[in-house]
Amino acid sequence: MRVPIIAGNWKMHKDVQEAVSFIKQVKNQLPPADQIETAIAGPTLCLVPMVKAAEESPLKIMAENCYYKNEGAYTGETSPYALYQAGIHHVILGHSERRTYFNETDELINKKVKAALTNGLCPIVCCDDTMGRRIAGKKVHWVVSRILADLHGLTNNEICHVTVAYEPSWAIGTGESADPDQAAEGCYLIRQTISDMYGDEVANNVRILYGGSVTTSNINALMAKNDIDGVLVGAASLNPETFLQLVHH
Ligand code: 13P
Repeated sequence: MRVPIIAGNWKMHKDVQEAVSFIKQVKNQLPPADQIETAIAGPTLCLVPMVKAAEESPLKIMAENCYYKNEGAYTGETSPYALYQAGIHHVILGHSERRTYFNETDELINKKVKAALTNGLCPIVCCDDTMGRRIAGKKVHWVVSRILADLHGLTNNEICHVTVAYEPSWAIGTGESADPDQAAEGCYLIRQTISDMYGDEVANNVRILYGGSVTTSNINALMAKNDIDGVLVGAASLNPETFLQLVHH
């Protein structure tokens, strides 16, 4: 059985004090991790205090990015090794904002995925999509080639620690979520691609999330879909009460 995940991605929001205060408000009201996994990705500066605030709770703290080298002269980057040592066990990689604003390529993302796994971090690999490609009938090719490139060359053991998030760019931060069928179709396509790469058994164990304007109003319809194992939530994860409503949808 794939345990559902409700994950927040705060992006570049909240300072340390706000981040810690949020965690203290939600940490005692979360379900056990074997029923629903809960996780929040916060800005790098907030991560260590967030881990401390989340101690003895099921909440997992995630990084929003990392580099593919463990150390060296890479000014401004974050080491996957140092993240793991600091108690961070998950990292979002390949978010469409990283691809768009920071020119991250599939090749770079694949290196980051491998480095994260080598250091014990579980990556949430994001697969974007655009409305233009959907309308032009190029969606399938796009999603399949993203997954083939980003998840290339992993061992069967490594791929089991990967989660994928289908996040159409036209749904991110726009208030216009993909409808549940469109979202499930994207997740299904990703699972089929993983199945072609690593076999059915592996693909059936990998969790695939939907992200893009998830709110308390649409989460039930999205989570009702077999192919959607959870959600990656941006704006609606910033408020503690709303986050708890999403978790207990
Ligand atoms: P929104 O929920 O704000 O649309 O953001 C989605 C997202 O980018 C999650 O990674």
